[in-house]
Amino acid sequence: MELRFSTMGFNDILDITPQVQKAIQHSGLRDGVVHLFVSGSTAAITTIEYEHGALADLQRALDQIAPMNAEYAHNQAWGDGNGYAHLRAALLKPDLCVPVQGGKLALGTWQQIILIDFDNRPRQRTVLVTLTEAARS
Ligand code: ZN
Repeated sequence: MELRFSTMGFNDILDITPQVQKAIQHSGLRDGVVHLFVSGSTAAITTIEYEHGALADLQRALDQIAPMNAEYAHNQAWGDGNGYAHLRAALLKPDLCVPVQGGKLALGTWQQIILIDFDNRPRQRTVLVTLTEAARS
């Protein structure tokens, strides 16, 4: 299964929890694991409390770890100016596993699934959704 998202790039952070939950409901899975993977080397998937302060804090931490306007070997090699994006994506990872219990994502109340697009232009992103049913005991 695939989910598609339009992003603005430049660290655009999307709460994709509703779409993932809908995909699980549509599949009929009750208990198991959902694996999410964004294809592309300048985006990442993780979880956070999706509120303005936490998002700003994440943004600031990433700006410190991999500033957009620093020197990157990748930029010299390719000239596409998104060396920071590749670095951020590598550190945050492109995938995430979340348990599914009773047909629902086993997330905390203040824990949302986010897709972050680090690239330096708007992008169309595809998130691959793989559902695995738990063994019945
Ligand atoms: Zn690049």
